[in-house]
Amino acid sequence: MTSAWQVLVVGGTHGNEFSGVQLLKQWQQQPLSFPNLVIQTLQANPKAHECNRRYIDDDLNREFTPQRLADFNLINYEALRAKSINQQFGPKGASQTDLVIDLHNTTSTMGPTLILLHDSHWERQLAAYVQQRMPEAVLLFELEQTYQQWGYLCTVGKRGVMVEVGPQPQSVLRQDILDQMRLMTELILEFTSLQLRNELPPLPATIEAFTSVCSKSLPLDEAGQPLAMVHQRLEGSDFTPLQPGEPIFQYFDGRVGYFDGDEPLYPTFVNEAAYYNSHMAFSLARKISLTVAAPN
Ligand SMILES: [Zn+2]
Repeated sequence: MTSAWQVLVVGGTHGNEFSGVQLLKQWQQQPLSFPNLVIQTLQANPKAHECNRRYIDDDLNREFTPQRLADFNLINYEALRAKSINQQFGPKGASQTDLVIDLHNTTSTMGPTLILLHDSHWERQLAAYVQQRMPEAVLLFELEQTYQQWGYLCTVGKRGVMVEVGPQPQSVLRQDILDQMRLMTELILEFTSLQLRNELPPLPATIEAFTSVCSKSLPLDEAGQPLAMVHQRLEGSDFTPLQPGEPIFQYFDGRVGYFDGDEPLYPTFVNEAAYYNSHMAFSLARKISLTVAAPN
């Protein structure tokens, strides 16, 4: 007999990203149902959503490092919320939840992006399945740290992925973005159910994906104030190649800052509104080709 997986679908981890919150409401009316999956939903940060803010005290999606979860001196709203979610659905590292899917919006033009934090046969099959049925889907592997080291909420599960869809301004709903988020989430659940039952259809032997490399901050003056903004060349150009020597920053005094890399890389999270406080301008990813064929 095929065993069932415990799955948690999370929305509203960031209170002003509305698509996930809206989808949770719809799935309460019409529950998600897939064979061999026991699906629960969670609105992760209801207080921040009520206040129409990303968070109250601290970013909930950075609270789930082993260190922060274990630090009982951290008692602000999100730190306590993280500990409670970890207790209810984790604990991280020995989780009772087989899969967590966390839904996010970005103000950047990233389209429907599936963010994966671990690279094994399961993730590659999932990525291939989603892209086969949703060609506009982008696959982004964030592998700079181990799965356990990330502070992301989804790492509270044995497996965790994020659905990151944009462009959508904070605190609004866009129909195209909502539809893409719903479809990608349903495809992840469909894949998980089929995979558990050994009923996956043939998948492509290789997939085109991206792996994150680094983040670029705005140039700052001695007082920590930005000296430049993101150059218009980069606007709306997430996941399109940026060549060495192309403009990336427009200084307010008229100068232009150029990309000093030695290979073409692919901008992500260009001008993301949520990163303004940290002066992060964009991140860069490398395009990779991954084989899906043999299990490892
Ligand atoms: Zn978010």
